[in-house]
Amino acid sequence: RKATKGGETIFSKIIDKVIPADIIHEDEQCIAFRDVNPQAPVHFLVIPRKRIAMLDDVNQDDAQLLGHLLLVAKDVAKKENLVDGYRLVINNGKDGAQSVFHLHIHVMGKRQMGWPPG
Ligand code: 5GP
Repeated sequence: RKATKGGETIFSKIIDKVIPADIIHEDEQCIAFRDVNPQAPVHFLVIPRKRIAMLDDVNQDDAQLLGHLLLVAKDVAKKENLVDGYRLVINNGKDGAQSVFHLHIHVMGKRQMGWPPG
């Protein structure tokens, strides 16, 4: 793991607006912004403001927050007009191909996805 629980990442800097991002949703618990290296015509990330390195680190106290992240993912997908469907992904740890150790939900749409993923 590249960052310990609560560690500073590039996403902390996006939350703090120290580095810019194309932010498409903000509320008291989370933000959503476009991925800098999009894997689909629409590709954004939903992240908690709380510093949580990865899904492995959440617990019962985070249940409301996790539900909120999913609701925001769905609401922003609707705003982005992803009417034909979309894909949510959470990469967790090395085998999950996680590269930024601040929990995030990928939301991708406007192209046909394949299954199973690579
Ligand atoms: P992971 O592999 O950790 O699930 O995904 C991290 C994602 O964050 C990648 O899709 C990558 O393109 C994106 N990303 C990394 N650094 C930045 C950044 O500085 N700005 C934005 N907007 N996205 C980033």
